[in-house]
Amino acid sequence: MNQYLLTICYLIGSITFILGLKMLSNPASARKGNLVAAGGMTIAILGTIFLYKDIETGTGLNNYTWIFSGLLIGAIIGTLAAKKVQMTAMPEMVSLFNGMGGACASLISIVEFNHLSKELATNPNPLFLPHEQTKVLIIVIGLIIGSVSFAGSMIAWGKLNGRVKDFSFKGQNILNLIVLAAAITSACFLVMNPLQPNLHYIILALSIVYGIFFVMPIGGADMPVVISLLNSFTGVAAACGGFLYDNKVMLTGGILVGAAGTLLTILMCKAMNRSLKNVLIGSFGGGNKTASGGSSVQGQYKEISLSDTAMIMSYASKVMIVPGYGLAVAQAQHTCHELEKILTEKGVEVKYAIHPVAGRMPGHMNVLLAEADVSYDNLLEMEQANDEFATTDVVLVLGANDVVNPAAKSDPTSPIYGMPILDVELAKTIVVNKRSMKPGYAGIENELFFRPKTSMLFGDAKKVLQDLCAEIKNV
Ligand code: NDP
Repeated sequence: MNQYLLTICYLIGSITFILGLKMLSNPASARKGNLVAAGGMTIAILGTIFLYKDIETGTGLNNYTWIFSGLLIGAIIGTLAAKKVQMTAMPEMVSLFNGMGGACASLISIVEFNHLSKELATNPNPLFLPHEQTKVLIIVIGLIIGSVSFAGSMIAWGKLNGRVKDFSFKGQNILNLIVLAAAITSACFLVMNPLQPNLHYIILALSIVYGIFFVMPIGGADMPVVISLLNSFTGVAAACGGFLYDNKVMLTGGILVGAAGTLLTILMCKAMNRSLKNVLIGSFGGGNKTASGGSSVQGQYKEISLSDTAMIMSYASKVMIVPGYGLAVAQAQHTCHELEKILTEKGVEVKYAIHPVAGRMPGHMNVLLAEADVSYDNLLEMEQANDEFATTDVVLVLGANDVVNPAAKSDPTSPIYGMPILDVELAKTIVVNKRSMKPGYAGIENELFFRPKTSMLFGDAKKVLQDLCAEIKNV
């Protein structure tokens, strides 16, 4: 009876994961989708804790003190972290949590290998059965992928919060490949002959070293691809755990995360105009190029006053807002929506141009603007926006920098060269709001700020937008 109920719990879990993922693809339903999938996960976890019975012994899980202590500590840390985290620090938290998923998968592999080797050591038959070898194969796959994901995500976390700097040396790609090959060869050896007491720890160490070396040189504007790739790694590693335990919901969840992460990686690669092969061998981001590379921009920039900005926006037919990381820093999404409403009431057509890597995590700007109830219909993807800039009177760049940097098209020495950008220069007038002339994430100057059609409107995005709203009301 328990077994049937548990199967139903897993079925509910799997269905809610699929439904939740589907709902996550639209900002309007994303929040609900998250809750639906979390509800399904809760049912699956509680089902496992109370209904699971070992087929051979018929015993269930009885170490409740350990299980609930772990759940309680994890829930407290998770809730506090999620409540306290600033919107701008969300990408770091996502990286950290993704790394924890990888670490769990890696720990599962180690524990299961230790169990299996104890069983094999007491078994007088030295011939390994095919199912035992398959088990070791799944264990080492989970171990390698989980550890790479853990180490890589920790480095990504450090890079996003500025604690870890890009680091590369000559021949790093070759060393990366050697370390990866050593891990895979050791893994093959272990599958052929599982009676190796410490080889899995060597595989663990090699995979961690590979994970570190793999993400260390990646810098400039290239992190989004790596973040989504690591996310897919964690999914695959979790699916290995599901396979080991014959746990259908863990398998489904892992496969969904792995597949979604892989699709996102391909989309991010396209958005950044990079090949996946380069990402996998760790030469991504141009190898030895430094983030401060690129031509130094010379010339004069011109400033525009709030009242002049209010004037040109009020009399425009079409305004395009380009949100960037600075909008998230300033938490100006609600004020931005307010500006949109005021302009729309005056008969101005207002749209948003969303670059796929604007901000610090995939979909960052969509999440931010959805939070402020901006209509999804007004959000244009990069290609659509680029088609519309020529018919736009005013572009308001709000805390964006790299995603509108023309060096991506014109300067082959730039670390962002080749990345598609928002062609804001096609519009009649460009107003750029930021606090200073400092560079963005890629650490390079932006020629756009010195071009004749561009004017700088300095200040914190929220304060500037509040003042702009007040000015426009008076025009
Ligand atoms: P950038 O990081 O290029 O630029 C943001 C700009 O915002 C800065 O130049 C900063 O200038 C300005 N700013 C900061 N705070 C404020 C504020 N309070 N008010 C107004 N302006 C402010 O952002 P983009 O969105 O253009 O580009 C994103 C970058 O991040 C890309 O290089 C991308 O590759 C990278 N990235 C993206 C990830 C993703 O998944 N989306 C993941 C990791 C990295 P100032 O200090 O002068 O105000």
